[in-house]
Amino acid sequence: MASVKRYQIFCHKCRHQFAIFAAICHTVDVARWLKDKADAHDCKAHAEFLAKAREPRPINPLKLSKKS
Ligand SMILES: [Zn+2]
Repeated sequence: MASVKRYQIFCHKCRHQFAIFAAICHTVDVARWLKDKADAHDCKAHAEFLAKAREPRPINPLKLSKKS
């Protein structure tokens, strides 16, 4: 039985490294599996996540005025 291991995946398209926990069967080519996971990376979603994390949180004047 395969045990769960932590695999580091690196996406060359958006240069993002992430970890995946998986139990890979010994019949699976790990190098190929890692490449498949990197190819399957949702670069667009990640880019949007980074953009959101970077932008300063806008203070919503409408919400503030409603509270008072
Ligand atoms: Zn990517």
